[in-house]
This record gives sequence, C-alpha cells and structure tokens, in this order.
Amino acid sequence: MQRFQQYIDGAFDDGSARFDSIDPATGTVWAEMPEAREGDVDRAVKAAERALYDGPWATMTATQRGKLLFRLADLVAQRALVLAELETRDTGKIIRETSAQIAYVAEYYRYYAGLADKIEGSTLPIDKPDMDVWLRREPVGVVAAIVPWNSQLFLSAVKLGPALAAGCTLVVKASEDGPAPLLEFARLVHEAGFPAGVVNVITGFGPSCGAALTRHPGVAHIAFTGGPGTAAAVVRNSAENLASTSLELGGKSPFIVFADADLESAANAQVAGIFAATGQSCVAGSRLIVERSVKDRFLAILKSRAEAVKIGSPLDMATEVGPLCTDRQRKLIESVVTASAEAGAKLVAGGSRPKDEGYYYAPTILDCDGVSSPSVETELFGPVLSVLSFETEAEAVQLANATRFGLAAGVFTQNLARAHRMIRKIRSGIVWVNTYRAVSPIAPFGGFGQSGHGREGGLAAALDYTRTKTVWVRTSDDPIPDPFVMR
Ligand code: NAD
Repeated sequence: MQRFQQYIDGAFDDGSARFDSIDPATGTVWAEMPEAREGDVDRAVKAAERALYDGPWATMTATQRGKLLFRLADLVAQRALVLAELETRDTGKIIRETSAQIAYVAEYYRYYAGLADKIEGSTLPIDKPDMDVWLRREPVGVVAAIVPWNSQLFLSAVKLGPALAAGCTLVVKASEDGPAPLLEFARLVHEAGFPAGVVNVITGFGPSCGAALTRHPGVAHIAFTGGPGTAAAVVRNSAENLASTSLELGGKSPFIVFADADLESAANAQVAGIFAATGQSCVAGSRLIVERSVKDRFLAILKSRAEAVKIGSPLDMATEVGPLCTDRQRKLIESVVTASAEAGAKLVAGGSRPKDEGYYYAPTILDCDGVSSPSVETELFGPVLSVLSFETEAEAVQLANATRFGLAAGVFTQNLARAHRMIRKIRSGIVWVNTYRAVSPIAPFGGFGQSGHGREGGLAAALDYTRTKTVWVRTSDDPIPDPFVMR
C-alpha cells in the first residue's frame, strides 16, 4: 500500500492522523493519507506567515519568483505522467484525460511565471503641487487554497500560479477524496527550490481541516473551489478572520443547439461536455436545450454515441468513461435519476451500473421535455444529460437562464447574428459558441450567481492576489504650514 505525506514549512511528515484512500475503479483501499487536524493547520499557516514576512521569499525580486515558477512548470511537465497515474488511481478520472490535462497544467505555471515581473503599481496625477503619490502592489497575504477532488492539479494551479506570481504564500488543502496527486506535487515544489513555508500542502476533512483553515486568523484570502453548500460554510468561517474570498462553484450549464447547427459536430461537443471526466466537471453541459424540429435526430445521434462509449479501467488509455470518484456521488445520482423517472422523464440511454465492482455509472440521457424533473435543477456531477426543447430563440434563452447557477453555456448555430444575441442574453461567466469546454491560462474562468464570484486565469487573477498601498511623499522643503488644516 502506498503512503503519502503532507508538506509543511519545507518538510514532509505523516500528519496528526492517517486515513485510507479508496481506488474508485475497484472500491478497495490502495493508499494511506496524512490527515491534517487543527494543530497541523495552525503550523502550516504560521509557516506561511513567516515565509511571507521574514523568509528569503519576502526579499526576492519578482523576476526571481518567476524563475522558480518556470522551474516548477518544467518539473510538472517532466512528471506529468507520474502525477496523472496517481490522479487516475486515486480519483478514477481516466488516464487519457489526466495525462493531457496535467501536461497542460505546466502551461498555467509558465503563464504566471512570465507575469510575475509584470505586475506593476501606478503613479497618480494627484491634485496637489508638492506631493508624489503612487500605488504599490503588494501580496494580499497568506492564501488558503481549497480544492475539490476533480482535477486537483489544475484547480490548484489556477490559484498557486497567480498567488505566487504576486508574492503570496499559501496553504493548499487537497480534497480528502483523491489527494495523492497534490501531495506528490508538493515534492516538485520542494525540488523546484521554493523557500520553506511558501507553499504548504495538506489534506483532511472539511469540518476539521477545512474549517480550521478558513477561519484561521493568519489567513488573508480564501480561494475556494467546490460546491455551493460548502462555499456558504467557508464564507461563514471567513466572518471570523475577515478574509476575502473567491468562489468557483458548481454549475448546471445549458448546451443550446439550434436547428441550423452542424449536428454531428454539436453531438461530439455534447458528448465531451457531459461524458468527459465521467460528467464530474463543473462546466458539464448537463442541460441540453435543443430546437424541437431537430430534437429526435439529435437525440438519436447522442444515444448511439452514449451507448458506444468504452467503459473500463481508468488506467487503460482506450477507456473513455471511468468510474465516479465516490460511491456517495453515485448514490446521489441514482436517487435523482430514479426521482426524475418517477416524475415522468424518459430514459433514452443508460440509467444503470455497467459493472459490478467499482463506482461505475453508465452514460445516461433523460428526456425531460414537459416534465418537472429534479435532474434539470440538481447538479449531479456525473454522466447524466437532461434534455429540454424549444420552438423560439426567446424560449431557448428563458430555459438557459432558468437556473440559480451561471458558470458556462454552449451555443451551436451557423447564424452569426443569433450567436451574438445569445451571448448577450445568457447569464453565465463563460459562453462557448460552436465549441465547448475550451480553457486556457490566458482566458479568465468563473461564474455568475450560485456558480460563485472571482475569476481564475488571465492577468486579472494575478492582480486579485495583490492589494494596493497608497504612498504619499511630500516634495517641498518648506516647513508644514498650518498643522490644523489637511492639505
Ligand atoms: P465540496 O464542496 O464537497 O468540497 C470541496 C473542498 O472543500 C474539499 O477540499 C473539502 O474538504 C472542503 N470542505 C468541506 N467542508 C468544508 C468546510 N466546512 N470548510 C472548509 N472547507 C471545507 O466539493 P466536491 O464534492 O469535492 O467537488 C464537487 C463540487 O466542486 C461541485 O459542485 C463542482 O461543480 C465544484 N467544482 C467547481 C469548479 C469551478 O471551477 N467552478 C471546478 C471543479 C469543481
């Protein structure tokens, strides 16, 4: 059995307690993880505080910080396959996806490495003749970065990259479900040569480790990715330390197909949008909203694709759909699919367990037209597509926006003017037109409404990890005249 360690203040240790990690493909224990409790969290935050104010990191130039990030990027690229295998083993996400995604994670570190010495302050054209006034951009402080179990290396890179570029120090909390890749990544941070305490990587359970971290008085900013319910608890905790928060939460993203779309191409994008990562993606296009005149044709294509998907071991490069990460998630999916069928939704494909062992669930399509189906509202975080149809463009917009979430949307049409109208009317942080699930370090990512606030990726994300200091310098040699008048 493999054993993993946590990383605090530049050293590896076993944590206050240990817990077992399950291989979702078999449902059996495969590794032992370090569990961080309140004392470990306190040690990690204090190490990050020391590194921020007193260590070599505090006096390093931005260019030197960038060089460390470039080194980290190279190490991630070199070890991508090792990290990918660990993620696949610990979360069930298929190796085809983890290997490609982690190789691309290196590009996020490169992007922010390049930005480190381009974060500039500014000079103000102040309204007083004898003053120079400027804004310094300083790191916001110690950052608590909390990630869910899916794509942990990616979701931590979009926090670590900009925060380190800005000069912050961090405590990263890996999810208790599948922490192996992030704990292994800590070894690369060490090897890259980051000073002790700049990056600390721990894992543990929400109510103990997560809560202790988010209310710790040493934390200045919380960068959280996870579900909306957990986010509410995190924001409540932040009332204790008054940390700022950025929240990347769930979604129930609409995938809108007009009759004039290239249906074969749209079907490929829809399959990627809902069955890739076994549907465990915050941007999963889980609500298909299709023009009624092409609904049957489009559903027939989707059904044949869903039924042809190769389900198998996540470590096999040929596998297209692997297991869900946890049995808990599968049970939630099963209960909502059953309730949806009882409400009148028609099962077009899937709806069952394709294997006896592991946490597998078949790619599933539910026709929910004219039915009040719970699958349309609930984020299932699994391979379940709910289908609705429309007659008019206005109806498509109304259905797309009929959600408390607002993370992403897909629009498939050949009509350019209509695409632009849809872009304006859809309420979500990302709109993809004739494509789906494209991401880049250069493009901001984040949601509206219950999908959260704050943006990850892009230049602005690095600025979000800074705070300004306003500096006033009086340039006159004359003595200060009347001390009772502010000038
Ligand atoms: P989750 O909310 O259960 O857990 C996320 C993290 O929060 C975990 O590390 C967990 O230990 C921690 N946590 C739990 N309780 C806590 C508490 N009281 N205080 C502090 N931390 C606590 O999410 P999950 O089930 O692991 O992941 C699925 C969710 O993540 C889905 O809603 C999905 O849409 C969302 N997600 C969003 C994005 C995005 O970028 N918008 C990306 C991936 C996943």
